[in-house]
Amino acid sequence: MLHAPDYVRAIAPYQGGKPVSELAREYGLDESRIVKLASNENPLGMPQSARDAMAAAAVELARYPDGNGFALKSAISKRFDVPLEWITLGNGSNDILELATRAFVQPGESTVFSAHAFAVYALASQAVGARSIVVPTVASGPQAYGHDLDAMLQAITTDTRIVFVANPNNPTGTFLPAAAVERFLEQVPTRVLVVYDEAYTEYLRPEERPDAFAWVRRFPNLLVSRSFSKAYGLAGLRVGYGVAQPLVTDLLNRLRQPFNVNLLAQAAAVAALADGPWLEQAYRANREGMAQLEAGLDAIGVRWLPSWGNFLLVQVVSPSGSGAGEGVHQSASAGDPAMPVYERLLRAGVIVRPVGNYALNGWLRVSVGLPEENAAFLAALPSAIGR
Ligand SMILES: *Cc1c(COP(=O)(O)O)cnc(C)c1O
Repeated sequence: MLHAPDYVRAIAPYQGGKPVSELAREYGLDESRIVKLASNENPLGMPQSARDAMAAAAVELARYPDGNGFALKSAISKRFDVPLEWITLGNGSNDILELATRAFVQPGESTVFSAHAFAVYALASQAVGARSIVVPTVASGPQAYGHDLDAMLQAITTDTRIVFVANPNNPTGTFLPAAAVERFLEQVPTRVLVVYDEAYTEYLRPEERPDAFAWVRRFPNLLVSRSFSKAYGLAGLRVGYGVAQPLVTDLLNRLRQPFNVNLLAQAAAVAALADGPWLEQAYRANREGMAQLEAGLDAIGVRWLPSWGNFLLVQVVSPSGSGAGEGVHQSASAGDPAMPVYERLLRAGVIVRPVGNYALNGWLRVSVGLPEENAAFLAALPSAIGR
């Protein structure tokens, strides 16, 4: 008999956004009329600079990529003024999150993260047989649904090896001001690694964007992860990176596959990183699209959470009278009252993301799209929620 550890068999597979081709196939819809606002991808597509760089690099595809990623690491090093030796490249930043977990956590030890935090923290923890300590979010006020950093500090036990912090967080869109994160970093025991996930940092207003790499210089137990999947528009290529002091970086690099970032991804990321106008355009388009969604949702009269990312949480079904609220455990989405709304939006050709698996029953996550895509969602929503 084959035998897999119980903790592996217990893993619930990651539920991604439904691909356009799948919806077209299942519902007999025309692909060109489907709007996908389900995976926080860049609605502008990918930068032309990255496309050109990939075309030029394609002639090299018979060769292995540079396993040390020298060109990309050099570009990151120059762009953000961090030493090359502090950078680990990942097959998406997801890879960095997993490498960190494999490097620092053994079966039976624990990781700490917030309720409604990015799903991969739980998946990566479970994959190594760790116990996930899920900390309830702030209950009310302007930080409602956001990480409760004080409670997360309290939740750290002697066997805790990693604390995950997403800022902004997905799927809530909540944001912790730099001063709060800094205070937290000062208090986390130095034997616990803090994985600080900045997948959406490019969407923050410049004046509120934390200087996380300055924190890396101060805190040897900090690993910052960044992604090329969101603002840079390269989700399909799978490329991200981590920045940490050499002790942490050395461990991650021992564990990673020798060629974990492919040749096209490296070339595209170098080009995208140098493409200032692209990032500016992505930032502005997101601001405008977010304002459009916020105003449209207000006009319909549904609740949404203020978001610092490129997506919004929308409460499409209000909690019923019992006042029980949402649990904190990341349970299955069965019984999520938002599912019928999600299905009706699918029939209208609009793909959004159910978040019952994030213990957010009654909510849907909507990515900011192009103006006409946002309009299509806003047009389909009233009848989908029965108005
Ligand atoms: C999308 C996302 C990531 C992972 O992105 P990659 O495509 O693997 O780089 C990491 N963290 C959060 C919070 C995300 O939303």
